Amino acid sequence: MQLEKVYEPGRFEPHWAEWWIESGIYRADAKAAKTSRVFSMVIPPPNVTGSLHIGHLFEHTMSDVAVRWHRMRGELTLWLPGTDHAGISTQMVVERQLASEGITRQQLGREEFERRVWQWKEEYGGRIQAQIRREGASVDWSRERFTLDAGLSRAVRENFVHLWMKGLVYRGEYIVNWCPRCQTALSDLETIHESVEGHLWHVRYKVSGGEETLVVATTRPETMLGDTALAVHPDDIRYRHLHGKTAILPLLNREIPIVADSMVDPKFGTGVVKVTPAHDPNDFAVAKRHKLPFIKVIGEDARMTAESGPYAGLDRFEARKRILAALEQTGELVKTEAYTVNVAKCERCRTIIEPLVSKQWFVHMKPLAEKAMEAVRQGRIRFVPDDREALFFQWMENIRDWCISRQLWWGHRIPAWHCKNCAEIIVARETPATCPRCHSTEIEQDTDVLDTWFSSGLWPFSTLGWPDRTEDLAAFYPTSLLITGFDILFFWVSRMIMLGLELTGDVPFREVHIHGLVRDADKQKMSKTKGNVIDPLVIIDKYGTDAVRIALLVSAAAGADIALKEDRMEAGRTFANKLWNASRLLFMNMERSGIDSWTPSPLEVAAESTEDAWIFERLRKATEAVNRALEIHRYHEASQTLWDFVWHEYCDWYLEVKKLRFREGSGLDAHWRAALTVYEAMLRLLHPFMPFVTEELWQRLVHGSGVHSEQPVSISLASFPVAAPSPAQQERVRLFGLLQQIVTAARELRADHKLEPKTIVDSTVYLRDAVFDEADLTAAGALAKIRIEQRSGAISDHTGLIRSSPDFDLQIHSSGAATQNGAASADSRARILREIAALEKAIGNSERQLGDATFLSKAPEKIVASLRAKQAEYQEQLAANRKLLDNLAE
Ligand SMILES: [Zn+2]
Ligand SMILES: [Zn+2]
Repeated sequence: MQLEKVYEPGRFEPHWAEWWIESGIYRADAKAAKTSRVFSMVIPPPNVTGSLHIGHLFEHTMSDVAVRWHRMRGELTLWLPGTDHAGISTQMVVERQLASEGITRQQLGREEFERRVWQWKEEYGGRIQAQIRREGASVDWSRERFTLDAGLSRAVRENFVHLWMKGLVYRGEYIVNWCPRCQTALSDLETIHESVEGHLWHVRYKVSGGEETLVVATTRPETMLGDTALAVHPDDIRYRHLHGKTAILPLLNREIPIVADSMVDPKFGTGVVKVTPAHDPNDFAVAKRHKLPFIKVIGEDARMTAESGPYAGLDRFEARKRILAALEQTGELVKTEAYTVNVAKCERCRTIIEPLVSKQWFVHMKPLAEKAMEAVRQGRIRFVPDDREALFFQWMENIRDWCISRQLWWGHRIPAWHCKNCAEIIVARETPATCPRCHSTEIEQDTDVLDTWFSSGLWPFSTLGWPDRTEDLAAFYPTSLLITGFDILFFWVSRMIMLGLELTGDVPFREVHIHGLVRDADKQKMSKTKGNVIDPLVIIDKYGTDAVRIALLVSAAAGADIALKEDRMEAGRTFANKLWNASRLLFMNMERSGIDSWTPSPLEVAAESTEDAWIFERLRKATEAVNRALEIHRYHEASQTLWDFVWHEYCDWYLEVKKLRFREGSGLDAHWRAALTVYEAMLRLLHPFMPFVTEELWQRLVHGSGVHSEQPVSISLASFPVAAPSPAQQERVRLFGLLQQIVTAARELRADHKLEPKTIVDSTVYLRDAVFDEADLTAAGALAKIRIEQRSGAISDHTGLIRSSPDFDLQIHSSGAATQNGAASADSRARILREIAALEKAIGNSERQLGDATFLSKAPEKIVASLRAKQAEYQEQLAANRKLLDNLAE
């Protein structure tokens, strides 16, 4: 069996990505839930307009590790994919497309516009799916969902009707960013801010029942007609006597209260501000606190309303001119000064935004939040890392009502109808034909659509068929785990918890793993404007998906941000390459031995040699560590463990020794059996992390030139290794550890004394309480290019090059090869001196800690003990290094 010389992921990654889908192996059979443990997850639905960014890749990689691990543990596993219709961003994309054809959506009309968006979705909406495939995400594509598809739309209606019936949905006043030209409310994301040269006008208001006056500064005098209060800071001693009094609004002579509110900045102007709740978001909040009325003086068309008395019907800027003129005349305009004003404009048409109050739909959140907090308190939902829990509670405790209506055309239209005849509001699951109150047929559906979080908040159950009691819902809900970013913890995660509990009576997921951000190498947030964005598709093409996956995984401590460096991905590819080369060696020897394929066998194969005993034990330890780390969502620990095991233990030590055994040619069969047993288990361990290369290698190993029907069709359906309960052959494991130390000591001595790399030198090892058999001694000698003789006890004749440790002394007889190179190199001296300095520093540090009485009284015993052990170890290394330095000096 031959393996291509070079590791080229591009040759097989796309193939397996396709095959995994075609073969349908990730389709979850709900019927199996009766007899199996279940693990289910939903993918946080990316925007349909989106394309993959590095954060998705990171999130999907961790999720895929979890999913593949559970699947390989024999659980019934579902990972459900899908996309979000993303109201605003999708509508904007299509509107831009229309603009290039010279059409507006108003010209097309609502129905035709919606048709155009669907058309756009069919054409371009598939990009993100293709990218998720390339990530190797083992999702069940047969269950793919879209937040606007028929089933999910029904769930959204059910949700709205349910909340309405319970009195949790209501209509109320709310301040929005309004574009008078586009005739729509805009989210903050759709507005831009500009500094323009304007004015600050100082206007005098009279305090009721006296001679006192107050001066108020404003940049928008036209809004003063809608003032319903003046406000001062509660601690401002200049105005304490005015608390509870009233003032007279100039021009309209309306009496308005003076309120005390800490929102007021006493240093701005005179410290007195006007409150216009209907046209300013801050004032809106003040008005809510003080229960002030809202008077809307500017309408949706940016003209003054009937509320503005003599100015009604005027454009807002014309009204400004006239109001200023009138104030000038009455002497109430005290001062005009130049002032830089921050103006919000419509991102699309640059019209100045008018903040105004309008009728919106709300969800009353308090009762929903109570239930959510209760569920988290009871531990029915667990946050990882758990410090995120505090923030969740803080949000839930301060939650405000949720404005769910949007003045858009793309989205779930609100299932409410207004009767034109009697003004009745009808909320219904099915479109009504007549008004139930007056039987009029003149009813019209509300024109607003719902906030996208209103549908994505149902995602874990609407995707499984809710509100119907489907087989899927019974099998896979509540889902087991959600892996998502910190940024949508409030917007999305908390809403899923609240709505899930309210609508299904159960939590939507049992655990939430919150991951950190992927930042650039300098820990800066990636952004297009900074130009430091790493495009996952570019690096996948460059390094292969597996290499990028492992690079991301080993970089990420739980919940912490990643500083992603390009050399990590380089290292990821080198790692994959290492595995590839090891496989090549094994496969070549398989072929030489006439073996075509390998049937995986249980791990407890009798270890035939010292290195087998050692690698079985290392594998057992690694298996144990990986399973434990995955259990608690420590993906970086699991991947780091495997990285070390594959690279440094299996490839660097074990295979190096095995190569010698293969060369010796004796007992070949046993050596093979052990090497392949560990190798095959290693592939399975590594599969969740690097699915492509492990599938490629495993298929070749296990299925060889044909498919062996008794084996699973894919490594992803094979079983995940479980650690044997107890370590085996302790003595042999210890011997191999000793062998490693001797080889390392010999290599260092050779390097320090610049011995000819090719020359084999004679040496003696003095062992305190161990005896090597001939094969091990030969192996150690071959690895370090020395001829070893073993003796028991301690060294007595201190000639030649010596390395000592508690367990052995190694003596390289320097007569011959060593003498002509005996002089210590400056490099070696420098290396040893550096090591000594580092050790002295470490010893100093731990001495300080161990001498600290408060630390000792507070630290857990385990920590103190390990610190003491470390301290002893440092001392030993220090002594050894000093000796080495002395030897060099001789
Ligand atoms: Zn506009
Ligand atoms: Zn009616």
